[in-house]
Amino acid sequence: MRFFDQLKAIVDKETEFENESRKMTVLIRILCLVMMTFFSTDVLVFAVIGNVRGLASCLLIDILYFVVFALSYRMRKMPVVWMFILLTGFWGAAMLFLFGPDSSFQTFPAFLIIIFFFASNNKLRYKVIFTLMTFVVYMGLVDIYGVRKPIVYRVAMTTHRYVRDSCMLVVLLCICIAAYVFSNESQSMESKLIEYNKKLKEKANTDPLTGLNNRGSAMDYLAEFVKKADDTICSVCICDIDHFKRVNDTYGHDVGDLVLKAVAKVLMTCSENKAFVARWGGEEFFLAFPNMNGDEALEVLYNIQSELRKTVVMSEDQKIKVTLTYGLTEYDKNQGLDQNIKDADNKLYMGKEAGRDRIMY
Ligand code: GH3
Ligand code: MG
Ligand code: MG
Repeated sequence: MRFFDQLKAIVDKETEFENESRKMTVLIRILCLVMMTFFSTDVLVFAVIGNVRGLASCLLIDILYFVVFALSYRMRKMPVVWMFILLTGFWGAAMLFLFGPDSSFQTFPAFLIIIFFFASNNKLRYKVIFTLMTFVVYMGLVDIYGVRKPIVYRVAMTTHRYVRDSCMLVVLLCICIAAYVFSNESQSMESKLIEYNKKLKEKANTDPLTGLNNRGSAMDYLAEFVKKADDTICSVCICDIDHFKRVNDTYGHDVGDLVLKAVAKVLMTCSENKAFVARWGGEEFFLAFPNMNGDEALEVLYNIQSELRKTVVMSEDQKIKVTLTYGLTEYDKNQGLDQNIKDADNKLYMGKEAGRDRIMY
């Protein structure tokens, strides 16, 4: 475990350039390590079978990948990426030259294109040019060497298969690592954004003082309800704290805020799973009772009324109690949103006129 921790620390090390994301550099380091492991194994294999030229060329590429790895700590991202691409491209081309067309060199163009796409923020134009250039080089190589037998190494069939398959494996592994690093990044970024949007939406829909939904979200809620099938019922209530101005005038605005919070809490608790509650504005609240007719909604309001009677807000040693006046109406889909709200509002006004602390329905 310690070995992997140390390795991770080495690979993750910052570059000297603070204004550059090091993600790509870290990826190149990982890929270099994979390549170095691969070529070191090849060196051993060629040593065992006594193929000196194979050993020498693998050792050379191994050293070159080490150089790229080492330079990644000193150089900017793009030169490092380019060195990696050129070295890998050179190695891919050499495969064809050394071992013939049946040597997995076909996987290299795809790998190089993936690295180039991920590495650069360049315009799409440059990426397309890179892709076309890679294709042209590939075609050129196939034209020159594709039909010939291996030029340099006529190795035994087993060695040839080992070279071909291990090469295929290492390139696919590298593609897999590169795709993982970048897809992981974009997926985690995407879920971060979704989370952030959710928070923003919540913030935009919430009243900061009471934590209730605000008027905008209450309107959205009703608009959504209106869109639903004609036979869905709903009741709507607007209620207002009685003589709230007196509370503010007597105990101060801060205590008034505490009272608003206490009322909001009672409304929330008593309407849990029964009604949508919002702060309509000032000391007015809004309740929507989905799938409830007026009588059913009335029951919930009675409960709210009785809970509120038991609720006391303390200001120093003074006990403050408040009452609400409620205007309740059954939502009439033929009347439209504004008219329904007006209806509830009118009933609230009538309740105030009639002496407050009552439910008008
Ligand atoms: P009524 O019974 O007729 O409703 O009388 P009222 O005093 O409650 O009504 P009025 O409209 O005269 O006063 C409402 C007060 O609510 C005035 C305003 O300062 C206060 N208010 C509105 N929003 C807030 C708030 O966020 N915090 C506090 N502390 N007071 C608020
Ligand atoms: Mg009031
Ligand atoms: Mg009012």
